[in-house]
Amino acid sequence: MREQTLENGWRTGLRPEFLAALEHAAAVSGSKDDGPDLDQEEILLLLQPTTADEQAELFRAADLVRARQVGDEVHLRGIIEFSNYCRCDCAYCGLRRSNAKLKRYRLDYGEIWQIAGRAAALGYRTLVLQSGEDPWYTGPDLARLIGRIKRELEVAVTLSLGERSREDYECWREAGADRYLLKHETADPELFARLRPGCFLEERLQCLFWLRELSYQIGSGNMVGLPGQSVATLVRDLLLLRELDAEMVGIGPFIPHCDTPLAGNSGGSVTATLRMVAVARLLLPTTHLPATTALGSIDPEGRQKALTCGANVIMPNVTPVAYRPDYQIYPNKLCLGEEPEHCRGCVEGLIRALGRTVAQDRGDSRKRKSEVRSPRSGLEGSRRSF
Ligand code: SAH
Ligand code: SF4
Repeated sequence: MREQTLENGWRTGLRPEFLAALEHAAAVSGSKDDGPDLDQEEILLLLQPTTADEQAELFRAADLVRARQVGDEVHLRGIIEFSNYCRCDCAYCGLRRSNAKLKRYRLDYGEIWQIAGRAAALGYRTLVLQSGEDPWYTGPDLARLIGRIKRELEVAVTLSLGERSREDYECWREAGADRYLLKHETADPELFARLRPGCFLEERLQCLFWLRELSYQIGSGNMVGLPGQSVATLVRDLLLLRELDAEMVGIGPFIPHCDTPLAGNSGGSVTATLRMVAVARLLLPTTHLPATTALGSIDPEGRQKALTCGANVIMPNVTPVAYRPDYQIYPNKLCLGEEPEHCRGCVEGLIRALGRTVAQDRGDSRKRKSEVRSPRSGLEGSRRSF
């Protein structure tokens, strides 16, 4: 069988302008580490294929660029959801502070340490510590836990704790934290302020700027299908992600939660999310792109689909089953009843069934440091565009 390459040619029947944008994207991102300089119109076109052939070619191009740039390995990040207390009131999230129906829990440092050890023993080389924005965990106390994990377990540590002070970010970095995941959620500042009362996009970007300054590998990303979001907003999301030059980009569907003000809204579709993942791969060829749990929660094949149109990371849950039902950021979250050992086996099977392999290393960023643009220029650029 002839090897699939972009040069083998595209299907016929694509609109000339769609084909031109795809060729521009794929030719550059297929051969070089830095992404193509697609403009807004080209991104808009690629996000809106009008035929099944156009969509298939978009996905094929993203898959080939993924194979060339980051290979067939899929990186696993074990996620520990250690507290569902949150001081924020995000309109989309089941953990929002106004959700009185939620039974709140907080794991103590000893418990988190135990779970981390169990996950490392299962072979995870990256652990993600995630929670609501919960100031009960102080900067110095968390730093001690991070230091212990880094000293005693052979893992990279990613934090996903929301917006905190620069001092906290600094002491966690000094304790050895490697990465920080802070999605920008939406690049539309008005929509952001509406959905996150009391919060501002600019402040979230300021946090990302600090994290960059402190030389964390940063992860950002957005939700797809938020009420009030248009395809033009998604273009802005992608342009912002390019400016941020994030090492990881998480793009998942918005899933309405019945105990939030957005309960009656429709959520993001599988197709719209996959298109965003595919265009993100073309635009950001060497970035780590997760096949998100949210996508797997609205479509049983969602993560497999994402892995075949650009994604190269999966984040299995390693939180003990007892706590999982209470960490429903969105409803019907995947694997509510599966213990970490089961999830690991299941995800490995899923990856192998696609002909891919499970990465054995920590999965640090593929970006060469010399090519990582200075955060200052990126964020100033974003400020300019708001
Ligand atoms: N509190 C931290 C981390 C936990 S929330 C923070 O907000 O950064 C992790 C992610 O869950 C958020 O970044 C958001 O993108 C996602 N999320 C929240 N509510 C969601 C929903 N209803 N549907 C899909 N994703 C959601
Ligand atoms: Fe809290 Fe994060 Fe949910 Fe917002 S998205 S309510 S910050 S857990």
